[in-house]
Amino acid sequence: MNLCLLCDEHDALGGMLCPGCTKATVVRLECMPTLYEGLRPFLTPSSAVSQGRGGKGGPAPLPVVESVLDMRGVMVGTLEDWLSAVREERGMRQLASRPGVDGRLAAAVAGLLANMPWVASAWPTAGTFAGEVRDLARSVSSVISPPPPPPPRGARIGNCPAVDSSGALCGAVLRLAPGEKAVRCEWCGNQYPPYTWAQLKTWIDEDTGARDAA
Ligand SMILES: [Zn+2]
Ligand SMILES: [Zn+2]
Repeated sequence: MNLCLLCDEHDALGGMLCPGCTKATVVRLECMPTLYEGLRPFLTPSSAVSQGRGGKGGPAPLPVVESVLDMRGVMVGTLEDWLSAVREERGMRQLASRPGVDGRLAAAVAGLLANMPWVASAWPTAGTFAGEVRDLARSVSSVISPPPPPPPRGARIGNCPAVDSSGALCGAVLRLAPGEKAVRCEWCGNQYPPYTWAQLKTWIDEDTGARDAA
């Protein structure tokens, strides 16, 4: 029985990576140039700082955030190392190094993608390779994507049925915050403790029915 070297699931095709992990690795590789590009806005903290170079005298302040620069270097270095490992394993001539970091990333990605069918079917190191590609994609996207939204603040219960002195319905969305014992309308301040919830639901249903009828 063959197990996928990345996810440990049974692989009916008997390769090194199951079709799902192969596809995921291809997608991650294809995303690398976008992820690499996505780091660009983090490279220059402000245009004022980047003007710092060129003056005489002491060292100018570094115009880039070092850790992001490192991360770009790690991306290029990791992918190039893996491509070189693949080519060595397959008895292929090593590629001449290319000038320009941006071109190097694209070349490494293209080379790895071209070798993916062999990697997935025959390379015993495919699991380590695919795992590193996954970790690389993860760590870069954690830098460039905004943090995930906060957890939902409790289920939406309905619209606040409170009526003000002029007879207008509040209608603000009511939610029960986690850990809270009473539903409190953030708009009008009305509180709905648990013993009113059955009634609250009736009111909300009535209001919804009235709105739908209108
Ligand atoms: Zn798998
Ligand atoms: Zn309200």
